[in-house]
Amino acid sequence: MTRAIHWFRQDLRLSDNPALSAAARFGAVIPVYILDDVQAGEDAMGAASRVWLHKSLMKLNESLEGKLQVFCGDARKIIPNLVQEWQIGAVFWNRAYEPWRMRRDQQMKSALKQQGIRAESFQASLLWEPWTLSKPDGTPYKVFTPFYRRASLDMPPPREPLAQPDISFADIDAGQGIDTLKLVPDQDWARDFLADEPCGEQAAQARLQHFVENGLKGYKEGRDRPALSNVSRLSSALHFGEISPNHAYHAAYISGSPSDVEHFHKELAWREFSLSILYYNPELRRKNFNPAFDHFPWRQKHPKLWRWQMGQTGYPIIDAGMRQLYQTGWMHNRVRMIVASFLVKNMLVDWRVGEAWFWDTLSDADHASNSASWQWVAGSGADGAPYFRIFNPVLQGEKFDPDGAYTLRYVPELQELPKDFLHKPWQAPKNVLRESGVALGEDYPHPMLDLAESRRSALEAFEMMKAMNSAC
Ligand SMILES: Cc1cc2nc3c(=O)[nH]c(=O)nc-3n(C[C@H](O)[C@H](O)[C@H](O)COP(=O)(O)OP(=O)(O)OC[C@H]3O[C@@H](n4cnc5c(N)ncnc54)[C@H](O)[C@@H]3O)c2cc1C
Repeated sequence: MTRAIHWFRQDLRLSDNPALSAAARFGAVIPVYILDDVQAGEDAMGAASRVWLHKSLMKLNESLEGKLQVFCGDARKIIPNLVQEWQIGAVFWNRAYEPWRMRRDQQMKSALKQQGIRAESFQASLLWEPWTLSKPDGTPYKVFTPFYRRASLDMPPPREPLAQPDISFADIDAGQGIDTLKLVPDQDWARDFLADEPCGEQAAQARLQHFVENGLKGYKEGRDRPALSNVSRLSSALHFGEISPNHAYHAAYISGSPSDVEHFHKELAWREFSLSILYYNPELRRKNFNPAFDHFPWRQKHPKLWRWQMGQTGYPIIDAGMRQLYQTGWMHNRVRMIVASFLVKNMLVDWRVGEAWFWDTLSDADHASNSASWQWVAGSGADGAPYFRIFNPVLQGEKFDPDGAYTLRYVPELQELPKDFLHKPWQAPKNVLRESGVALGEDYPHPMLDLAESRRSALEAFEMMKAMNSAC
C-alpha cells in the first residue's frame, strides 16, 4: 500500500481535517508532528503555549492509537529524510499563515515536487483564505467593517465540517516521545499550570457544545462582562486547531438568537481579519502598521514594568487581569483591552513589550491576533482605536465588573472592601480600609501612577508624534 505523511501543525484534530482526509484516501498514513524552533527563530512559541501544546499532543496521540511520530528540528530536513527512508508517495498538510511557516512550506513544497513526491496543502484553519478576500480593486482591507461585510455578503458561506476519516496507519516507528520535546519546563510555575484545563479535540468539542448550549444566549452583551460565562474560551483550541473555525461557525446556528450568532460570527471574523492583516504585513509583530507611530516616543524600559506583569499596579481590574493571565494562561478580551491600554498609554511603554509578555504567558498566543490586537490598542494598527480613547481602569471596572465578582477572584485581598471602593481602594476613608482589613502599601499596593497625569502625558506624546510627522 502506498504511504502518505500527514504533517500535523496547527490542526491537532481528526475531524474536519481536509489534509488528513486526503492522506487517508491516498494510502497508509504516517502522522507526523515536528517542533520546528529552528525555522521559527524569534517567533518560536512562548512558555504557556508550549504547555498547552504538550497536553494537546498527548491527546492527539491517544486518538491516533499511539502512532504519532514526533520530531524536533528543521522540518525542511526532517520531512525529506522521512520521505526517502520510508518510501513515501505523498505529503499532505493544512496551511498555516505565520510568515516563517509560509516561507518554509513553500520551500518544502517545491523541494518535494522536485523529488517527484506529491505535496499538497489545504485550507483548514480559516473560514476564508486571505488572498480571496480583498477589496474590489484587489487591495487588502484595512478596516474591519467592510472586510466583514464582504465576507458575509459576497463570499460563499464557510463549508460544513468534514467527518473524521477512516485511517489505516503505516507500520512505522521513527520518531521520539512527546516528552523529549521538553515542552513543559522543570520549573515551579509549570508544575500545575493548566493542570485543570482540558486540552485536545474532544475537550474543544465539549467546550464548544457547552458554550452553544449555555453561553451563546446573551453573547452580544455578556461577552463584555468578565465575570459571566458568555464567551466560548475556544481561542487556544482554535489556535492549535483542536477544533476548526468552520465547526464553531456552524455550531452557533444550533441555539443562538440571530443577533448573538451574528456577533459570534463577527468575533470569529476578527480572527480572520487579523490573519489577513498579517498576511499582507508579514512584519506586523515588529513594525507599526501605521508608520506615523515610528515617531512615537515609546518607552522601551520602565522601572515598574514588573508591577504590570505581576498584577501589582494598585488598579484592581488590571491586577485581576494580569494575575488571571499569569495563573491560567488566558485573559478575558475586555480585560486584555484594559491592561493593554494601561501599558501603552498610561505607562507609555512600547506595545511590543506587552505583546512579548502576552506571547510568553498566553496559551492562545497567536502571531496574528496578538500583534494586530496590541497595535489596535496602541493606535498604530489597522482600524485602530483613536489614540485619545484611553481606557480608565476605574470606570471600566465599575462598568464591566460592577459587583467585583471577577476582580475579587484574583484580588481576594479586597474581599471585605465595600463595593463602592472596590475599583478605587485609595479613595476609601481610613476607617473603611481598616474595617475591611486592607492596609494600602502592605496588603494591596498604592496606585503606581496618577491616571489624569499619565493621560495628559500620553496625549502630549501623541501631539509630539504628529508634529514630528508633519515636520518630516
Ligand atoms: C491586547 C490583546 C491581545 C490579544 N491576543 C490574542 C492572542 O494572542 N490570541 C488570540 O486568539 N486572541 C487574542 N486576542 C483577542 C481576544 O482577546 C481573544 O481571542 C479572546 O479573548 C478569546 O476568548 P474566547 O475564545 O472566549 O473568545 P470568544 O468571544 O468566544 O470569541 C470566539 C473566537 O473568536 C476569536 N476572537 C474573538 N475576539 C477576537 C479579537 N478581538 N481578535 C481576534 N480574534 C478574536 C477567537 O479565536 C475566539 O476564540 C487579543 C486581544 C487583545 C486586546
